[in-house]
Amino acid sequence: TVKGNYLKHYAFYDETLRNEMLEEQNILNDMETALKNRQFEVYFQPVYSLSTGKIISAEALVRWVHPEKGMLSPSSFLPIFEHNGFITKLDTYVWETVCKRIQLWKSEGKEVYPISVNVSRVHLYDSNFCSELLSLVQKYDVEPCLLKLEITESAYTENEKQLLYIMSQLQCSGFKILMDDFGSGYSSLNMLKDVPVDVLKIDMRFINGFEESTRAGSILASVVQMARRLKLPVIAEGVETREQAEYLRLIGCESAQGYFFSRPIPLQDFELLLAENKTFEWFVESFEGIYK
Ligand code: C2E
Ligand code: MG
Ligand code: MG
Ligand code: MG
Repeated sequence: TVKGNYLKHYAFYDETLRNEMLEEQNILNDMETALKNRQFEVYFQPVYSLSTGKIISAEALVRWVHPEKGMLSPSSFLPIFEHNGFITKLDTYVWETVCKRIQLWKSEGKEVYPISVNVSRVHLYDSNFCSELLSLVQKYDVEPCLLKLEITESAYTENEKQLLYIMSQLQCSGFKILMDDFGSGYSSLNMLKDVPVDVLKIDMRFINGFEESTRAGSILASVVQMARRLKLPVIAEGVETREQAEYLRLIGCESAQGYFFSRPIPLQDFELLLAENKTFEWFVESFEGIYK
């Protein structure tokens, strides 16, 4: 159409847009090589139980260690990968890395922790998704419940019927589904009526706001209470301060993840933490009165 041509033409002369396109082209050129050369690294962010103060699982988060640009965070490349479909390859790589690691822990006789991985919305609607996942866990002899699947809340609004079908298929195969970024969208509560999920991950926007206002604190407490009534365990995301952790424990939130406990860390560091799995020091301090 005339309008389309005009826009294309216009875009070419827009400097920032042109730079963005160049940047995108660079990323496109680099990504296949990056996968081959193992430039993608899987980091782990531990999840702590708020009743014991110990690590109970972790979330796998991808990083791109780019030879020229350094460490890139997902927000700088994931949108592009979702757009061109490369995300399905990258996600498979991350899941496989996690499965291999769990297999290794088992063979070394170590305690095995479930690890959650992120699932892109692009992958969800891929017709081979469930069978691909199943053959992956079978290949590495990993129980499906050890590879927990994080699906972001906003993915639920796309094609609900198909999604519900896929999710129940996953659950029937033994996978656990975590609703990621819960509360960040517009239809969160309504959705919970029909969507089969096993765990709610409360979005960090809920956590970070509550100190400044008692209303935010009440909303947070209500969400946790609602989840308990629905018998859904809750993980609070983005916990950055001791006050937040204390409040979450007070209102009955089971577990938490965030910079207060640990940033996402490389595998080796995570394994060192696991080997000890000491009670997080804040717990020891705040329970001192009880232990004495
Ligand atoms: P997410 O799944 O909601 O992951 C949580 C994000 O919050 C991570 O950002 C984590 O580093 C960050 N975070 C954790 N604790 C805190 C905190 O206390 N404060 C703050 N400000 N941030 C905290 P990250 O690693 O940059 O990942 C961003 C998003 O990229 C993830 O959000 C997830 O949606 C996506 N992502 C990451 N890795 C993968 C992957 O392998 N596959 C797919 N499909 N998506 C991924
Ligand atoms: Mg996540
Ligand atoms: Mg999240
Ligand atoms: Mg997110």
